[in-house]
Amino acid sequence: MKKVFIYFFVFLLIFFLLPAMLTKRNSEVSARVPDDNVEKNEETKNNNEYDYKNYGTIKLLHQDTGEVEEVALDTYLCNVVSAEMPADFELEALKAQAVVARTYTIYKIQNKKHENSDICDDSSCCQAWVSKEERFSRWDEDKRESNWDKIEQSVNETKGKIITYNGAPINAFFHSNSGGTTELPVNVWGGGSEYPYLQVVETAGEEGYTQYSSEATFTQDELIEKLKSKYEDITIDFNNDDDLKILDYTDSGRVKTVKFGNHELSGTETRSLLDLRSTNFEIIKENGNIKFSVKGYGHGVGMSQTGADSLAKEGKSYEDIIKHFYVGVEISDVNSL
Ligand SMILES: [Zn+2]
Repeated sequence: MKKVFIYFFVFLLIFFLLPAMLTKRNSEVSARVPDDNVEKNEETKNNNEYDYKNYGTIKLLHQDTGEVEEVALDTYLCNVVSAEMPADFELEALKAQAVVARTYTIYKIQNKKHENSDICDDSSCCQAWVSKEERFSRWDEDKRESNWDKIEQSVNETKGKIITYNGAPINAFFHSNSGGTTELPVNVWGGGSEYPYLQVVETAGEEGYTQYSSEATFTQDELIEKLKSKYEDITIDFNNDDDLKILDYTDSGRVKTVKFGNHELSGTETRSLLDLRSTNFEIIKENGNIKFSVKGYGHGVGMSQTGADSLAKEGKSYEDIIKHFYVGVEISDVNSL
């Protein structure tokens, strides 16, 4: 009789308890799988979090109100990138712009211009900045979220990255369209050769953008009036071709000096007085008027934004784009400074 109980017990063990134990063990194993994934996801997330040791926040001066706001660097950079480059440009071009903006910001922190802040929101002084709300109001409603996501992606995927030359952040000048060839800073602002990374470089594909060509036409009186704002005694004999002509060019093919009657003006001064888009222009006399046919948009120094987009369309990465426009530089980690 005892034997029957033993057999019955073994039977119970084999058919119920063992499978139950094994199932439990399996369910424990399978229960741990999602846990592992959660841990992994958190790990990935943590890897994306970049610890800006010295440059986590910046003091931003709003020029119209005089208010100084302390903001996280990468949040600030989203506002800058959205102010400086069209969101429909290629992602790699936006990433190049994000790294340029981050570099420029760190450069400004190290070379302060304002007393109680690191940088201001005025593009003619420091770097353009636009609030998210203002930016959204200028985008079509159905594009707002996707445009902003793309800009955030350009900043997040380049976290901590800046451009250095000899271990120091560069002065990352940029402009809208180079007209095919960039300019040396000495031809725009004078000075010496303190920026060896800013050279004359050529970029294909710039002509495909609306910023590439423009015209400005003046009557003889209008031209004289504009020049008189600085040169009161200016006189030009419009019948004499030698009285209105380009005298010489810079290495990049931009206008260096123009003769306007009894004065010689630099290309940059001419650009500013006549509000031309660049110093890469021709002067054409047409039906008694004077037409300036202009190539490119901006000072022409450093990265061309449409050039960056054009290179990205060719499949170039943001690192390639940066190294094309800034000669001999490295892409470095800001914490290595
Ligand atoms: Zn400023």
